[in-house]
Amino acid sequence: MSLAPPRVPALFRRLPELATLPMVPLAHVPTPVERAPSLSAPGVDVWMKRDDLVSPLYGGNKVRRYEYVLADVIARGSPRIVTAGGLASTQVTATALFARLLSLELSAVLFDQPVTRFAKEAVLADADAGARLFYGGGYARTAARTWLLQRRPDRYLILPGAPTPLANIGYVDAMLELAEQVDLGLLPRPDHIVLPTGSSGTLAALALGAAWLGWETEIIGVRITDAVACNRLTVGLVIDATRRWLEARSPTYRRARRRAPRFSLHGGALGPGYGHPTPEARRAIDEVRALTGAPGEVTYSGKALVGLRQLLAERRAQGTVLLWNTLSVARPIASPGARAKVPRELSWVLDAPEVA
Ligand SMILES: *Cc1c(COP(=O)(O)O)cnc(C)c1O
Repeated sequence: MSLAPPRVPALFRRLPELATLPMVPLAHVPTPVERAPSLSAPGVDVWMKRDDLVSPLYGGNKVRRYEYVLADVIARGSPRIVTAGGLASTQVTATALFARLLSLELSAVLFDQPVTRFAKEAVLADADAGARLFYGGGYARTAARTWLLQRRPDRYLILPGAPTPLANIGYVDAMLELAEQVDLGLLPRPDHIVLPTGSSGTLAALALGAAWLGWETEIIGVRITDAVACNRLTVGLVIDATRRWLEARSPTYRRARRRAPRFSLHGGALGPGYGHPTPEARRAIDEVRALTGAPGEVTYSGKALVGLRQLLAERRAQGTVLLWNTLSVARPIASPGARAKVPRELSWVLDAPEVA
């Protein structure tokens, strides 16, 4: 499996001051935009942005973000990456697969979440890709173990979701890509963009990008995590940090006329918490398959679809609505030897009953 074809991101074309920033091509872009007739109704035209197809190795919304983050790891002499995430974390899986592709080393601490089939597959894939895995249990112990690991010399910490400006610019660039597709007449300019949101980085970057384009488009994040971790304040802070990062590096961006970013959050699909298999999210697994060709799961894509339907029913999303797909269609297939690579402290996950 190779890298993506080299390209000059739309962001670098618009902001020439960024052109010297290290970037490793991982994303196969532009990703398709397509209409979703099964979700459309009178007065609502639903489209999808297929970032689920952004890489044949592993798609989803970590890929564009990692083009800059992993380039930064390499530019710093390839220290071992340390990250953390839930048992079913796509962020850990994406880090493991792209780290292997780039010959980088990874340690990952996994915290508890309901054990689904998707979670088992993720743990197997992470181990199979060569990640050194640790079991964190609850949040506090996970944070402590992660802190101890990243304290060692020659480590590079990537926090869950990687909501840093360096990662977020990948989705400012994605917004420019969408604008080019609108200009080409491939889809109408969306009134609303809906996506699942956790660490808020992707939502913040899309809102910043739309504001820069002068679009009135509202970006709506379907919360997949608790309101303490994801709320208007946390999203606003990520937007501000990313905006300041761009302003500090690019006089062109500083001078650009921009609107205020427009975003909102929708908590109606979350249920009892992160990764919890609500009955609606479980039902959505097959609906996601019908839309994308690959089954959904209950943490991200299932809840995004449930949230989208609620927003449409409440008429909070109307007109042209774009569902931004963030979960990979490509799924890693673990080798027969993968099980033996899962450390003893995590092997119980593979034998636990599946809740979905
Ligand atoms: C990481 C992830 C999200 C959440 O993205 P954030 O930028 O952390 O808000 C949503 N969906 C999928 C499939 C993801 O992997």
